Amino acid sequence: MPKTFLLIAAAWFAACLPAAAQTPTQEYLVGATLYTQSAAEYRALCYQAYNLAELRLLEALRRNPARPAVILDLDETVLDNSAYTGWQIATDQPYSPDTWARWTELAAAPLVPGAARFLHLADSLGVTLLYVSNRLENERDATQRNMQAHGLPQVQPDHFFLKSSSSDKTERRAAIIAQGYDILLLIGDNLGDFDGQWEKLPNPIRNERADAVRDQFGSRYIVLPNAIYGTWEGALYQFNWSASPGERDSMRRAGLRAVELE
Ligand SMILES: [Mg+2]
Repeated sequence: MPKTFLLIAAAWFAACLPAAAQTPTQEYLVGATLYTQSAAEYRALCYQAYNLAELRLLEALRRNPARPAVILDLDETVLDNSAYTGWQIATDQPYSPDTWARWTELAAAPLVPGAARFLHLADSLGVTLLYVSNRLENERDATQRNMQAHGLPQVQPDHFFLKSSSSDKTERRAAIIAQGYDILLLIGDNLGDFDGQWEKLPNPIRNERADAVRDQFGSRYIVLPNAIYGTWEGALYQFNWSASPGERDSMRRAGLRAVELE
């Protein structure tokens, strides 16, 4: 009965196929996530950023600004979400707004090293803390709970400027400045946390623009390390977030610079 045999063989093959074709899609995040969670060097970079922020804050306050304020991003600047990435890797699930919301709802993110001391210092010096984040309105309560659990200052609703329509933070920063605040520092892990000039552009242009304002880094702009994700990653995909995992893998590889060895 060759026909039956063929059917059985086809069914067996089909059953085996998913297992054979299952290449993990989130594997590329392992190195960056381990670096964030394990390397003392990651912590040292965060401390370096916040130590510098403290010095710059004290320096700027000597000029007696009328309404001193600091703008901070939240994710990977104040809150460490690498455990969510750990879940992505462990379950081989790509980022999705739904699973991200389940994570933020837990209000369980630890703090980025150095953030708490800086925030308390700024608060004690009468500086207004303004959190400009691309978390959504419906994540506001859980975000506040998360920050309150860590005892962070100024976590009342009017200190949060969350994403409503655009992920570009330019308008929200302009609205803050229009309120008459003197922005002494901006702190973030993505260059869009500082200025809109780095939004949705190819990486070579983003790099050129970083070079052009190098003196701002460590003075008005305080940058935290984030090797896990950012606009730089979207740029590799030409911001086509609907590309398949396989296509994204190809685009990441195409972005690598590699020497040719004999
Ligand atoms: Mg961030």
